[in-house]
Amino acid sequence: MKSPLKILFLASEADPFIKIGGLGDVAGSLPPALKLLDPAIDIRLVLPFHGAIQRQAYDLRTEAAFEVPFHSGSIRAEALTMNYRGLPVYFIAGEPIAQDAPVYTPDAAFDAWKFTFFSIAALQLARELDWKPHILQANDWHTAVALYALRLNPGDTFQHTATILGLHNLPYMGFGAAPALDAFGIPPASDSALPAWAQHVPLPLGLLAADRIVTVSPNYAREILHPEFSSGLEDFLRLRASAISGILNGIDTQVWDPSQDLTLASQYSVADLESRVPNKTNLQIEFNLPVDPDVPIISLVSRMDPQKGVDLVPNALRQVAHLPWQAVILGTGMAELENVMHQLQEDFPDRVRAAIRFDSPLSHRIYAGSDLLLIPSRYEPCGLTQMIAMRYGCLPVARATGGLVDTIRDADTFNDGTGFLFNLPESLALANALERALSAYQDRAGWEQLQINAMHQDFSWQRSAKHYLRLYHSLSGNG
Ligand code: ADP
Repeated sequence: MKSPLKILFLASEADPFIKIGGLGDVAGSLPPALKLLDPAIDIRLVLPFHGAIQRQAYDLRTEAAFEVPFHSGSIRAEALTMNYRGLPVYFIAGEPIAQDAPVYTPDAAFDAWKFTFFSIAALQLARELDWKPHILQANDWHTAVALYALRLNPGDTFQHTATILGLHNLPYMGFGAAPALDAFGIPPASDSALPAWAQHVPLPLGLLAADRIVTVSPNYAREILHPEFSSGLEDFLRLRASAISGILNGIDTQVWDPSQDLTLASQYSVADLESRVPNKTNLQIEFNLPVDPDVPIISLVSRMDPQKGVDLVPNALRQVAHLPWQAVILGTGMAELENVMHQLQEDFPDRVRAAIRFDSPLSHRIYAGSDLLLIPSRYEPCGLTQMIAMRYGCLPVARATGGLVDTIRDADTFNDGTGFLFNLPESLALANALERALSAYQDRAGWEQLQINAMHQDFSWQRSAKHYLRLYHSLSGNG
């Protein structure tokens, strides 16, 4: 009889414990979806015990306490555990995971110290528990180093472990980590396939060590082989091309379900789009905008970061200023971009509102109450907001890049369109797509059909989890 598949899943964040961005959505949704798909698998999620985790909300018990060696001694680590949706979750605590610091800081050395400690401690936890996983999946630079450390020293516990690096964002590589890597006894790579500048950087080390590299969309797996998206690693990644594939992220269809969503003024479904309207009215009232069900609401729910192309939005809106619309913006990030949004609100006091904060319930109300969501990303490994928006009957206006291409069908190109795509990362291209969308909005029956097309898409984790499970089985020689 085959032994049940054992999977160790490492991430720097996971919803609902702690979420900063899309990685948190994935790490919080994929492991439970895998467990649901095959209850026999033993999948365990390991997270740093960040200060922002609401520890009193969870029934945690200490599972293990151990020393993590580093050059001048060792650091005490403690693993606390609880059960979440059928699987064990471990939180690793220790001095480098400072309780008064945010999950990610601008201090590269500080973050490297935290996440290197975490990565090594997570491996050690499995050793302490004498639990031998078939699969180790690390995610992004924060935990990539675990794959490399395991390759250097698998020991008894990881002798038969196959490794996967989940790639959610290539350019964030963990630069500045060399002192932390040194401190924990992790030498630079000596493999000449990696460029010299990458040989002591966590993400490239993980890319080198992983048996398989899984990007969060099939299109991003292709894009990273090209200089525009490869962050200087195209030659190396091309050498690894046969190990690279993409599995599209899903969304948590329980959390994101307009028919059950209690944060909304009015629940609705694809069969009852009329009930969507009060959410729009409510959004206009909440933001003190003129109440009018016929004026399209354009929204933006995004990190304020150049990656997201949000700097293209003000000029694009100015270029379509002759058309009727209102705009609601939700986001935090770079102060400069936040200020741009404040300025936009000042320039259009009767129709633009900017909420500069992180506010999950508000994001739900925006997806349910607005008509168009702008996603002008310069690159987008997968993107979740377009999938959420479509499920809520809000159509994306997005740049044709990464996972946005895998998930959105342009309404002017396909009969069963679900959104509006544009190619160049320029405000004029965004404005043109927006103009097409605003014109489509004027045809009410046509628009409703687009909403129906979008809401019928299956973006569930069940679909993605099947692909991951197949990969896990094939790698473990178990399938
Ligand atoms: P990324 O992970 O690159 O930021 P994704 O599209 O993959 O982008 O995921 C973003 C997630 O974060 C979505 O769930 C989105 O709703 C949420 N989000 C982004 N900004 C905010 C905000 N200011 N308030 C609430 N939720 C936000």
